[in-house]
Amino acid sequence: MHKRILLLVSAVSLTLLSFAQLKSPEAFLGYKIGTRYTPHWRVVSYYQYVAQTMPANVKLVQYGETNEHRPLYTAFISSAENISNLENIRTNNLRLANLAKDKAMPSENAPAIVWLSYNVHGNETSSSEAGLLTVFALADPNNAQSKEWLKNTVVIMDPCVNPDGRDRYVNWFNSVVGTQYNPRLDSREHREPWPGGRSNHYNFDLNRDWAWQTQIESQQRIKVYNQWMPQVHVDFHEQSINSPYYFAPAAQPYHDAITKWQRDFQVTIGKNHAKYFDKNNWLYFTKEVFDLFYPSYGDTYPIYNGAIGMTYEQGGGGSSGLGADTDEGDTLTLYDRAMHHFTTSLSTVEISSLNAASLLKEYRKFFNDAVTAANSEYKAYVIKNKPEDKERISALLTLLDKNAIQYTTGSGAGRGYSYHTGKEESFTVGQGDIVISAAQPRSTMVRLLFEPQSRLVDSATYDITAWSMPYAYGLTAFASKAAITGGGAVSKDSVKNSSTDSYGYVIPWVGVSSARAVGQLMNAGIKMRFSESPFEVSGKSFARGAVIILKKGNEKFGSALWAEVAKICDQNNVTMSAVSTGFVDKGYDFGSGKVHPMKAVKVAMLTGDGVSSLGAGEVWHFFEKELRYPVTLINAADIARAKWSDIDVLIMPDGNYRFLSDKASAEQFVLWVRNGGRVVAMESAAGQLSRQEWSVIAVKKDDKDTSGKKDPYSALKLFNDRDRDGIENTTPGSIFRVDVDSSHPLMYGYPNYYYTLKMDDVLYEFTKDGAGWNAGVLKKDNQLAGFVGYKLKKKLKDGLLFATQNLGRGSVTYLTDDVLFRNFWENGKLMFCNAVFMVGQ
Ligand SMILES: [Zn+2]
Repeated sequence: MHKRILLLVSAVSLTLLSFAQLKSPEAFLGYKIGTRYTPHWRVVSYYQYVAQTMPANVKLVQYGETNEHRPLYTAFISSAENISNLENIRTNNLRLANLAKDKAMPSENAPAIVWLSYNVHGNETSSSEAGLLTVFALADPNNAQSKEWLKNTVVIMDPCVNPDGRDRYVNWFNSVVGTQYNPRLDSREHREPWPGGRSNHYNFDLNRDWAWQTQIESQQRIKVYNQWMPQVHVDFHEQSINSPYYFAPAAQPYHDAITKWQRDFQVTIGKNHAKYFDKNNWLYFTKEVFDLFYPSYGDTYPIYNGAIGMTYEQGGGGSSGLGADTDEGDTLTLYDRAMHHFTTSLSTVEISSLNAASLLKEYRKFFNDAVTAANSEYKAYVIKNKPEDKERISALLTLLDKNAIQYTTGSGAGRGYSYHTGKEESFTVGQGDIVISAAQPRSTMVRLLFEPQSRLVDSATYDITAWSMPYAYGLTAFASKAAITGGGAVSKDSVKNSSTDSYGYVIPWVGVSSARAVGQLMNAGIKMRFSESPFEVSGKSFARGAVIILKKGNEKFGSALWAEVAKICDQNNVTMSAVSTGFVDKGYDFGSGKVHPMKAVKVAMLTGDGVSSLGAGEVWHFFEKELRYPVTLINAADIARAKWSDIDVLIMPDGNYRFLSDKASAEQFVLWVRNGGRVVAMESAAGQLSRQEWSVIAVKKDDKDTSGKKDPYSALKLFNDRDRDGIENTTPGSIFRVDVDSSHPLMYGYPNYYYTLKMDDVLYEFTKDGAGWNAGVLKKDNQLAGFVGYKLKKKLKDGLLFATQNLGRGSVTYLTDDVLFRNFWENGKLMFCNAVFMVGQ
């Protein structure tokens, strides 16, 4: 009997004990955090274990999947009471942000929501390791301190934002490290191979993609983010090995949309971290390097959406491995790095919990100001609905939807800033024009995306200084200081083409959707032509580049032809217009030599060592995910082995191409061009080709200083100003109006201008003698937005940016500015399509 009671007692206490015990990452994984790398699947399995063991306090939700099919998760950690009430907390929070559909009054007496994002840059590995320590500390039932914080705080953890990048790094590192790590920086384990683990599968930097959401990781994550809208968001990073830890407050420039509270609270958080770092004798810095301006980062995007958004930076990164020598003679270990991020993780939760009431009060105020547009100089933005802009407007509306920005139709008239002329002008708001009011919950994001010129307190920024949407999307727009009456919902009709029998059909060439449809028609084996001149037929007008499909040449499809064409056009939301004759009323007949057959092109792109991974990624992603047209990636080092006869178009992304200095390879390349090959050279690749003896473009030399009297002391500089010196000669990314030859195939679908994002100080001479074509040039006074150093500003005029050259039977297209920048520069995509499909046909 006694024995039985004893057994019972021990069974009960065992149950209690197991209920009250949560294995640490070390106990679960079998090694101390920081002594080995934890691959992503084991990171996930620990979170799953924690959620299964502590179901009342931890909820794990899969929100998506990466390109390489790794799962993406968020873990919700809080008190049992909050976790059981999670959905109410979420809807109440949306009410606080004026984002809920219902009109119920929100409660400010609600938990603060803190979102911690780990490992957005895949090779900045310590943060996912730190995340494991953090989720344990928060969920551990024996940790009384965290239990206190979680009474009024919900923590959302993203264990790894970029698992494809992280595993790329970790798998590589594990394959090259010995039994013991080697801290010498010249050892191979500190030399990550191309393209490195920083980016995602398509070589995109996910920490530049928050607003644009071109990548599936961002698309899936921000959908969840927008359902939660936290009060605090932290993005964990690493920087160079020798840098001490960086945390808030951030550096100048701050965008002036950032509120006083948002600035002040960064200081509050920073001081809390400093307390722990001081206690441990750790080194750190604040207020330098990491600014708050470009709206697509993991710190700024949350800030412009009402949160305290921050970046924390640990020294380390892709060259530091498990342990690395520092300049100070220390060894920086993965363990150290993880401990620092772990410390700021908990300190962030602590200080947010201590200030939960004021966080919620100020958050509420942010969104109450938003719906009255209290902090917006411009009260509304108007996008003119021109038929030729249809595809780019539709792309813009998709971007607005991704960011939960509201828009309507409108009516009336007004005065406002014309993005095209840079002047105040009168305008009308007609049927179908889009009105984006600044008075809405996302008011600050609206301002950030649309204001003509963002103001910089300090020009030494980390990123581009201009991105205004009317320029990036190439739209006619006005910014109005007066509110504009909103109309109804904007209708987004999907195209349904009829496929009745006809002499032919015409597809306008106006954007990525047109190009995608044409590419798919090519792949289906359908023969097409394009007209180099505008034409009118069957009562309809078509612009240059319009693609014509005739029964002639497509006999093999028989009566199924038009149904097939209509299916592809419907899928791409592209309208096809029936024409009953090839005898045009204006322009050239379909049988004219000015109407060219369009050949399906076999496209290859150079990649690998020497090529900019980001530049290559932009092209790769564009082909696969937007154009959905096949592209063969060839390592630049293997170019001698390329099957040239199977390449029609060769794309050279931004990069340094060593084969050009190898005589045999360079000759083989030129021979291929002369025999009909078509090259598309981008950014520095264009610069490299310009130095080949056969090239017809050349870098523009500096104009002579015509100021007459030179300052004899201009060479004397203050030591203290050394960080600023040189800035007068640079642009970190600003917008210029380019004058365009819209009759040139590279510019089909464009008006006589193009807005370019200029990120360097290079300009080319106009090409002469008819050997090349000046398709896009910079004239005088064409800068529209962003920072350009005053010395460079004087030089950036009267030069060439976009050109083509005929070489034998082939051609070279020079795109010296990045027309696919981060895949959000929508206006440049058609130029790229022209270079691939139109130039040299
Ligand atoms: Zn980073």
